[in-house]
Amino acid sequence: MPIQSMPELIEECLKDIYSAEKQLSKALPKLAKAAQNPRLKEAITNHLAETNEQIKRLEQVCKQMGIKPSGMLCKGMQGIVEECNEHLKEAKPSPIADAMIIGLAQKNEHYEICGYGTVIEYMKAAGQTEGIELLQQNMAEEEKTDKLLSELAESEINRLAVESPMPAPAKKASSSSGKAKSASGASKSKASSDKSPRGKVSVR
Ligand code: FE
Ligand code: FE
Repeated sequence: MPIQSMPELIEECLKDIYSAEKQLSKALPKLAKAAQNPRLKEAITNHLAETNEQIKRLEQVCKQMGIKPSGMLCKGMQGIVEECNEHLKEAKPSPIADAMIIGLAQKNEHYEICGYGTVIEYMKAAGQTEGIELLQQNMAEEEKTDKLLSELAESEINRLAVESPMPAPAKKASSSSGKAKSASGASKSKASSDKSPRGKVSVR
């Protein structure tokens, strides 16, 4: 049924966020478990506790407005959670995985920030002031988490990921290091010996 009024649109948004939060309360433990960095693990675990409180606040807001929050599936969050699960399935604890987990977690947070921001503005416009404060509280926690994740990425995790000793993809080695054994007078023959694109794969 199409949405035909602002109250209906607000209701739709609140149900959508409620579903998103519910899905996140199940997804965040997996992200926290997969994280290796203790600060990242802690940040996600703390946000899980906040998320559970946010669900209660949403239930309170919906109750005040006479809305039943359950019964809808937020497909946007479903997609993001599926993406998280997909990546985590193959991830082993490592600085690279930590960097990836931050990116995934921030997708969640940005989605939530967008959802709260939108419904708060709808409610303001509709003169529906009751409940706004609780929603703003939720949004502030999402923003704080997003900021903390950025801070963790920028202060250490991205650097650790870059420095991490994971096997690098095969690169074409420079002629000086790659042909050390046959360095004597080999420069002329370089072009022919390097013809195969796989010729230098074993060079580290
Ligand atoms: Fe949330
Ligand atoms: Fe969140």
